[in-house]
Amino acid sequence: MWRNTKDRELRDRAAEVIPGGMYGHQSTAMMPEGFPQFFTGAKGTRITDADGNEYIDYMCAYGPNLLGYQQPDVMRAVAEQQGRIDASTGPSPLIVDLAEAMVGMISHADWAMFCKNGADATMMALMIARAYRDKRKVLVARNAYHGSMPWNTPRPAGVVAEDRAHLIYFDYNDTQSLADAAKQAGDDLAGIFAAPFRHDTFADQSLPDAEYARTARRIADEYDALLIVDDVRAGLRLCRDCSWETVGVRPDLSAWGKVLGNGQPISALVGNNRARAAASRIFVTGSFWFAAVPMAAAIETLRIVRESDYLERLTAIGEQFRAGLAAQAVEFGFGLRQTGPAATPMVLFEDDPDFRLGYGFCREAMTRGVYMSPYHNMFMNAAMTETDVAQTLEATGAAFEAIKKSRASLKPSPVLAALMEA
Ligand code: PMP
Repeated sequence: MWRNTKDRELRDRAAEVIPGGMYGHQSTAMMPEGFPQFFTGAKGTRITDADGNEYIDYMCAYGPNLLGYQQPDVMRAVAEQQGRIDASTGPSPLIVDLAEAMVGMISHADWAMFCKNGADATMMALMIARAYRDKRKVLVARNAYHGSMPWNTPRPAGVVAEDRAHLIYFDYNDTQSLADAAKQAGDDLAGIFAAPFRHDTFADQSLPDAEYARTARRIADEYDALLIVDDVRAGLRLCRDCSWETVGVRPDLSAWGKVLGNGQPISALVGNNRARAAASRIFVTGSFWFAAVPMAAAIETLRIVRESDYLERLTAIGEQFRAGLAAQAVEFGFGLRQTGPAATPMVLFEDDPDFRLGYGFCREAMTRGVYMSPYHNMFMNAAMTETDVAQTLEATGAAFEAIKKSRASLKPSPVLAALMEA
C-alpha cells in the first residue's frame, strides 16, 4: 500500500532549513499532489522513496541514468578509482584518456574540456563563442533550456536585463526566424545555440528539420560565428555521436552532461579546431572539475556505449512503452500526443490545456509504482526490460481507468496554475 508519512515529515523539516522546502528541477512542487520528494535508494530501473515505496523510474534522474542505476561495471570503476585519487592538486591521467575517448567518438570534436553540470558546459560554450572573434551576440531558441545560469534560467527572479542584453531569440525549426535573428546581430554575431531537438517543458517535442539545421550551419559560417549543439539532455540517447549527426550537420561546439558518467558528476564541452584557440583563452574552472572518480565512471560508460547495444535496447523499450500507452489511451477513450524520440518520450493529453488530465494520470500511475512526468520529457534507460514495461502498463492501464471515472472532478494543479499565470 502506497504511503507518504515519512516524506511529509521530511518536507516539514526541509521547509524550515531549505528555501521553499526544495529548489530547482528536483523540487516536486510542480508535480502532482503527493509525489514523493525524498528518495533513499536507486538501483537498475527503480527508485525507492523515503517511505519505502518503489517506482519504475521514467525520469532517470532527469537524464543521467543511461545504463541503469548502479550499473555494476561503472560502479566497479568508481570503487577502484576511489582507492587511488579523486579531487586533488592536479588532474589524473584519466582526463587525457577521457578527452581521447570523446574525440574518438564525437565526429566534430578535436578537443574536450570537463566540468560538473550541464550549465557549466553551456556557459563555457557561450564564453568560447564570444572569445572566438571578440563578438557579443548569441542566438538562442525561444523557451529552450540550457541551464539555470542568469543568461538562461526560466524564472525572472535574480536576473537583470543586462544578463541577457546580447541574446537574440528565434523560433526553433524556423529558418526565416533564425536568419532574421542573425541579421539583427549583424557583424556582432558570436554564436548560435541549437537544441538537438525541441524538448521544451509543457510542449510537444519536435525533431530538427534537416534544412533548419543546415541553415544554422550556413549562417554560422557566413558570419564567422560558432554553432553550438546543447546535447546535455539528448546526448547518447539518439546516437553514439553528437545528436546532429542524425541530420548530417556538425557544430563547432557541443555540450554534454547528464549521462556522461551514468550518474557520476561530470559534464563536458567538446569542440573543433576552429574553436580551439578561443577555448584555450577563456578562464574557466571549478574545485571539482578535475576529479578523477567521475572521469573513471565516464570512461567506463563510454566503453559500454561503444561496445554494447544499449542504444538499440533502450530505443526498443521506449517504443514498446509508447505503443502500450497509445493502445491504452484508445481503449479508455483518451487522446494522447506522444512526440519526439522514443528514447526521451513526451506524453501529453489532447484537450488538456491546464494539464489536469496529465496530472491526474501521473498521480494514479505514481501510487501504483510508476514514476512519470506530466510536463517534462521522460528518459529510457538500457536496464529496462519487457517485464518493466509490462508492469508499467498494468499500472498505467489502471491509471487510465481511474481518471476515466474521476474525469469530471479532476482539478488543475494550483501550483501550475499560479506559474502559468505569472
Ligand atoms: N541543457 C539542457 C538541454 C538541459 O536539459 C539541461 C538540464 N536539464 C542543462 C543544459 C543544464 O544541465 P545541468 O542541470 O546539469 O546544469
